[in-house]
Amino acid sequence: MMPLSRRDMAERDACDPLRTARNAFSLPPGVIYLDGNSLGPPTGMTRARITHTVEHEWGRSLVRGWNVHDWIGLPQRVAAKIAPLIGASPDEIVVADSTTVNLFKLACGALALRPDRRVILTEAGNFPTDLYVLQGLVQASAGRLDLRVLARDKILEGLDDQVALLALTHSHYKTAALWPLTQLTQKAQAVGALTLWDLSHSAGALEIDLAGARADFAVGCGYKYLNGGPGAPSFAFAASRHHGLLEQPIWGWMGHAEPFAFVDAFSPAPGVARLLSGTPPVLALSALDAALDVFAEVDMAVVAAKAQDLVDVLIRLIQTRCAGHGLTLTTSERREGRGSHVAFTHPQGYGLMRALIARGVIGDFRAPDVIRFGLTPLYLGFTEVWDAVEVLREVLETGAFAQDDDSTRQRVT
Ligand SMILES: *Cc1c(COP(=O)(O)O)cnc(C)c1O
Repeated sequence: MMPLSRRDMAERDACDPLRTARNAFSLPPGVIYLDGNSLGPPTGMTRARITHTVEHEWGRSLVRGWNVHDWIGLPQRVAAKIAPLIGASPDEIVVADSTTVNLFKLACGALALRPDRRVILTEAGNFPTDLYVLQGLVQASAGRLDLRVLARDKILEGLDDQVALLALTHSHYKTAALWPLTQLTQKAQAVGALTLWDLSHSAGALEIDLAGARADFAVGCGYKYLNGGPGAPSFAFAASRHHGLLEQPIWGWMGHAEPFAFVDAFSPAPGVARLLSGTPPVLALSALDAALDVFAEVDMAVVAAKAQDLVDVLIRLIQTRCAGHGLTLTTSERREGRGSHVAFTHPQGYGLMRALIARGVIGDFRAPDVIRFGLTPLYLGFTEVWDAVEVLREVLETGAFAQDDDSTRQRVT
């Protein structure tokens, strides 16, 4: 294989069908942003929208805004923009709360649909919040439920007719390893189990077809590849065939059939709206609403293909230009087997990432030894990937990274 050059990268950028999408974003100068899988950047429209919402809508309309600006309908409007990105229909999604809270609601909802079964099956090393939510739920069940946590290669063996719910993360937050969503959903359903997919690391970066997969339930993050802003609300998906019987434990007035009837007794809203609990966060939803407009202009097949091209290039460049410096690739080299970020382990991973960030190459670190590079097709070019690898090579070759020292670790890595 011919070695890649920076010029090859510039040529790829010149014929990139997504190169204009980048103009929607305003990234700070001097930064190569490889952490959009953790927090996407704002678009120009998002910035303008936040100002507009505060100054014009909230500032002038005050409480009338719920009606005159239809704030009350924002969760549904945002859901309608997310729906095509995950292969769902708008009336199967709500946008509310955090991914953590939505995991809890949907896991409870799914378990109530399988009252004769007691096992929740998930993967060891799944994202911590997913594991913690399931542990908490089992604890609260006072002995009725069991959590079965198995290594990735044992999940299929563990999928038996005691399993009520298979809860997995589509693209793994450390390795980017991708579960075959359709296949696993079918296998779970073949033994009578329901599925709950966490799409946090795939929505907005990969092609997802929940309807085609006949998925039961899913959740995902608004602030990663969807660029909704720090702590943006999450989305929750429930297939329409479950709506009739679906229940969730956080009954609130926004999930009531008639929130403004102010009656004492709860009766759930028809359809997916019963997944709502409290008042919608209008500022955060407005930002997410504006951020999602970028996706209306692009074809997700093109986005997903470019993501894999960027991943291929980054892996190849690091393997050829940074060899012999203790980096071990933990992301699959197969395009079908991974999401949109690349992970390496390195014994001094934390110090290495700090040195990269100090030089404007922003990725992140996941304890104990993982460095991650998120490759977001909407605003990242191939030349930037080249330049980032050059910075990495220089840092590795000069040894210009501190020994990993817990006493100076920042609270958020
Ligand atoms: C980022 C992420 C979350 C985040 O959940 P929050 O409730 O927003 O903190 C959950 N699950 C996975 C798999 C994630 O990657």
